[in-house]
Amino acid sequence: MKYEDFHRRSIEQPEEFWGEQARAIHWNKAPETILDYSNPPFRKWFAGGETNLCFNAVDRHLAERADQLALVAISSETDVTREITYRQLHREVNTFAAILRALGVGRGDRVVIYMPNMAEAVFAMLACARIGAVHSVVFGGFAAHNLALRIDDATPKLLICADAGMRGGKVIPYKPLVDAACSAAKSPPPKVLIVERGLDPGHAVVEGRDEHYAPLRAQYDGAEVDVEWLESNEPSYLLYTSGTTGKPKGVQRDVGGYAVALALSMWSIYDVRAGQVMFSTSDVGWAVGHSYNVYGPLIAGATSVLYEGLPTNPDPGVWWRICEQYGVRTMFSSPTGIRVLKKQDASFLKKHDLSKLQWLFLAGEPLDEPTAQWITDGIGKTIIDNYWQTETGWPVLSLMPGLDLKPVKFGSPGLPTPGYRLRVIDDVTGEDVPAGTKGVLVIEPPLPPGCLTTVWNDDARFLSSYFSHFKELLYSSLDWAIRDEDGYTFILGRTDDVINVAGHRLGTREIEESCSTHPSVAEAAVIGVHDELKGQVPVVFATLKRQDESASDAAAGMQQRVVEQLGGVAKPARVYVVNALPKTRSGKLLRRSLQALAESRDPGDLSTLDDPGALEEVKRALERGA
Ligand code: ATP
Ligand code: MG
Repeated sequence: MKYEDFHRRSIEQPEEFWGEQARAIHWNKAPETILDYSNPPFRKWFAGGETNLCFNAVDRHLAERADQLALVAISSETDVTREITYRQLHREVNTFAAILRALGVGRGDRVVIYMPNMAEAVFAMLACARIGAVHSVVFGGFAAHNLALRIDDATPKLLICADAGMRGGKVIPYKPLVDAACSAAKSPPPKVLIVERGLDPGHAVVEGRDEHYAPLRAQYDGAEVDVEWLESNEPSYLLYTSGTTGKPKGVQRDVGGYAVALALSMWSIYDVRAGQVMFSTSDVGWAVGHSYNVYGPLIAGATSVLYEGLPTNPDPGVWWRICEQYGVRTMFSSPTGIRVLKKQDASFLKKHDLSKLQWLFLAGEPLDEPTAQWITDGIGKTIIDNYWQTETGWPVLSLMPGLDLKPVKFGSPGLPTPGYRLRVIDDVTGEDVPAGTKGVLVIEPPLPPGCLTTVWNDDARFLSSYFSHFKELLYSSLDWAIRDEDGYTFILGRTDDVINVAGHRLGTREIEESCSTHPSVAEAAVIGVHDELKGQVPVVFATLKRQDESASDAAAGMQQRVVEQLGGVAKPARVYVVNALPKTRSGKLLRRSLQALAESRDPGDLSTLDDPGALEEVKRALERGA
């Protein structure tokens, strides 16, 4: 079917369209109303319908594909690979659900899951879904402080953790972090369930609070736990945003709308159907991990590959070896992941048989052209830029190879996905801007199925964060965009990442793109720094592909390119070459912290910072001078 017709129908006749899509999942009770929009901008999809995410992801497939692989969990850290069929997954999830019940967890109770990419994290999520408990997965390896903040927001009945994670061969004990977080939290969970991997055998145990998984699993093995049928709009899970721009928001997801949106996206966007294989390199703790490592592929009856480990261990070909071994059809990763490989020997891209691989989707941050070109040439596959947010739960902009693949345009994540009414509007007047002009990307409500229903426990923050920016009731993405004549949207960065140089408004993204075209540059971060004369000036922090290249040549080269490509007004006032850039744990640049340091201010909330060393390095670079 043609993309244009499909998309038009989704926004002109949303109830018919989504009513049809809803048939892709199992309903215990059919929806009474496809869309209830009586209280804008809150909306209810499939109101009155009863369904369950776990039933759709697991039980429903037993009749036809019990012996097909559901989950392959590969760890290059522990050197363990687990291949789990739908039948085995069903058994594990039932056992886990029985354990949850035994620990006092019921419908509507929150469960915090603090685990690395391992099979039990998936069992735990699905077990919560089965009994109607609301999971909140916190990225494993976040510091105790981050965990405590999320515990206090979610007030869980239970916290499930691994004894430890591993990164680059180093054991990272989780249990001390859990204990510290529970001490720091105002409302710590009454129970903690520890999944032991044998990585930290000596961990402390709190009597009466801590339980171990292995003995409970043996005790409840073979148990059967009835599926709890939930009204479509009950919460399924909470997930906190990355915290790139401020304090993370607790995104609340529903049940029915989410399942329907994922089912649609699996075939139409990701081109993966039952029996096929999808490999997402995301962590289960991110939005991509929830939607495309766990619920999406399983709802579709596909095989999901979960990977714990670095993209470079045991060698930089590890992802492609996995693709070859399991016949991966669609792979999903991030620009950051590809940039890591870009610093390695490119011959690793050619060592494996990738004949089954069709598509590589990249999401989470801007995909710069040089990186897109490098990986396109390297693996000879179609690379699809994917734009979405934790809030939306699935892509907002993408190409849709499962439906009708439109030409790739580097630098653009493409066209609106079904159900999204997108506009690009002037940030001051709120009027639509013409093609080729920059504005704020907004979604006209009602938000499609799959998007957040509210901010957990905070409807006021839901309204103020997303719906209070314009006269009209519009969801602001808080991202700048340009739409071209063909309707392709280009994302230019966040609305708080704009530099105002002597009255000219420049997007940091454009300057970063320009710097990245320099052959020595691995990655560039651009910020606006206060300037007496001009208001603000652009300042660049960049990493180079090779340590032995001349920093001063690269700096001069970047400045020259920016002047050539964007004009003298955009010329970076200073360029700092560093070994690492400060990023969130999800791989996003923390420009606000760079800016604060460059302006000698406090770098602010650093709770989601990945590598504190990177910030120290930036401080030293600033002291040394550009
Ligand atoms: P917070 O909202 O807490 O500040 P965050 O916005 O980084 O954190 P996420 O929901 O993980 O949290 O990220 C969504 C954002 O990532 C988008 O709003 C956009 O700025 C950026 N992004 C995601 N995908 C793309 C893409 N393909 N191209 C450009 N930017 C992207
Ligand atoms: Mg955001």
